[in-house]
Amino acid sequence: MRASAYPLVDADEAAALVLENTPVLGVERVALAHCVGRVLAEDLVSPASLPAFPSSAVDGYAVRAADAGKPLRVLGESAAGRPFAGTIEPGTAARILTGGVLPDGADCVVMVEDVRFDGEAVIPPAPLRPGANFHRPGADLREGERVAAAGTQMGAAELGLAAALGFPRLPVHRRPRVALMSTGDELVEVGEKPGRGKIVDSNRWALLAALREAGAEVRGLGIAPDEPEALRRLVVEALREVDVLVTSGGVSVGTHDLVKPLLESLGTVHIGRVKLKPGKPFTFATVSADLPANAPLPNPLPGGEKERLRLAFGLPGFPVSSLVTFEVFVRPALRKMQGFSSLQRPTLPVRLAYDATASADRTEYQRVTLRRDGAELVAETTGSQSSSRLMSLAGAHALVRVPPGDHGIKTGSMVDAMILSLP
Ligand code: AMP
Ligand code: MG
Repeated sequence: MRASAYPLVDADEAAALVLENTPVLGVERVALAHCVGRVLAEDLVSPASLPAFPSSAVDGYAVRAADAGKPLRVLGESAAGRPFAGTIEPGTAARILTGGVLPDGADCVVMVEDVRFDGEAVIPPAPLRPGANFHRPGADLREGERVAAAGTQMGAAELGLAAALGFPRLPVHRRPRVALMSTGDELVEVGEKPGRGKIVDSNRWALLAALREAGAEVRGLGIAPDEPEALRRLVVEALREVDVLVTSGGVSVGTHDLVKPLLESLGTVHIGRVKLKPGKPFTFATVSADLPANAPLPNPLPGGEKERLRLAFGLPGFPVSSLVTFEVFVRPALRKMQGFSSLQRPTLPVRLAYDATASADRTEYQRVTLRRDGAELVAETTGSQSSSRLMSLAGAHALVRVPPGDHGIKTGSMVDAMILSLP
């Protein structure tokens, strides 16, 4: 073992440094079917009013309010998609169905349940209110109104609105292409029986899930050995085709930890150690298009110069460390690349139901489950917070940030927790 040459960077400073070096990816016009979960690159502005015509809210009769209580002659019908062509003059009405156009001359709709019949005539109740039981043009959305701001993720309602307004394609940011690689001679593929001293590569699966949830397009690159040349070939090859490289393992200061020197030789290592628990060896580098001569140039990706910068995240090998550093550093960066207006997980105040001990010099992210107690959320520890114990994250609802120092946070205190899911 040797001492690390990299200074210990404050966790917040490291997170800010990652984002400063993260580009927003370019824009593509994408068919609605593929817009689910994508992020709008421009404000979506309504080119028309919705509804476009006065549209009946009920089944009944289109009448003039002034004809309240009078027997009316029924001239015809206005069904959804099949408007009535005539005009409602005094003393007349038209049958109307939900979604039908309110005929000219009519100023309200009477529900079928509320009318009486006298032979052929229909008699609406009295009094009647002009404007009743139909949606005026523009009542749902006015022409020129902003439907969704740039930076909004396209969900069900946003997609429905885009379709209703007649947009078959939308401008959205490109998804980040991410190469994912595990490093370590101890690793075997899932399904293989690990020999003595070997373990199954589980980080790749955990990180695959985390990356997909964060909106990335993932290329799995398997397991790289702790061998400098083989690792170099794999990493350079990966950087040709992706925006981001995520590795796990190989970033601590043991002699087999090759990721940092490799990234150093390919680009700039901005962060080599962080005051973070778990996740101290977290490494972040950028690799520009100007790779050294002995490394082949990556193909330019679509987009501007800044976009050609590749990001490389060297996550620590311990399973919890890799996922916590993913949460703190990688996920916000992937969201920035996609143009999200909010980069961070939401936070909520929670009441601690355990004594959170602090690390002397590192910000700690402790995993908790939440339960509701009246209006409050109460946080319980998930047990041993060892960086190898993935069970500390399984089922965790939130991360509680414990600042470094001697004090920790006492049972009963209120803290803001980073919410992963709610109970
Ligand atoms: P390293 O950061 O390479 O020193 O790895 C630290 C420890 O993390 C290793 O000793 C393994 O126990 C564990 N580890 C590393 N890579 C993986 C992986 N892909 N899946 C599961 N555990 C891993
Ligand atoms: Mg290793």
